[in-house]
Amino acid sequence: MQLLFATTNKNKIAEIKAALSDNFRLLSLEEVGLADAEVEEPYLTLAENAIHKATCYEQLSGIDCFSEDTGLEADVLNGAPGVLSARYAGMPANSNKNIEKLLREMEGKNNRSARFRTVIALRMGGETHAFEGICEGTILFSKQGEAGFGYDPVFKPEGADSSFAEMTTHEKNQYSHRKKALIKLIQFLESNR
Ligand code: IMP
Repeated sequence: MQLLFATTNKNKIAEIKAALSDNFRLLSLEEVGLADAEVEEPYLTLAENAIHKATCYEQLSGIDCFSEDTGLEADVLNGAPGVLSARYAGMPANSNKNIEKLLREMEGKNNRSARFRTVIALRMGGETHAFEGICEGTILFSKQGEAGFGYDPVFKPEGADSSFAEMTTHEKNQYSHRKKALIKLIQFLESNR
């Protein structure tokens, strides 16, 4: 089954390829010549943004398509940066600046609990479906590790001894919000094949 994953993020493609079986041929935006198409994330919820992106790229490519939107929610910041995670420190998006701002906002705060939330939206056969995955954890006081991307160096998932950035992709996938949403997507795809 051929499916377009509407992202240009190589880490996300690697994470999802590592989790998908051979029954699926995953295409990236680069592979369908849409890497430079501009699609905004104009909404205030992850689900609306994910559905918007999947719908736009499905229309542009003519291929069944899924897209995902992820946010990091810190409890002590009332769920911020949330849907604005990518642009938390302003545009152009910059992960180091986002982390610096997050650590600044959380300075002196003892409640470090937070979660990553991913919504995957699938446009298939003219229908829309959404799948959510959540990873609970804590925001560290400083960066740990070099692997991964985004907020990985400052997020430690519940039950782990290290940050996401100190893990291999395989290890991260045992906790990951994206993997949990992906499992739901795969179950749906396998049962509708
Ligand atoms: P987006 O879904 O790609 O727009 O991601 C929103 C923000 O969260 C960006 O700053 C990403 O770098 C960050 N992000 C998304 N997924 C992850 C993850 O698995 N680990 C760390 N940061 C992430």
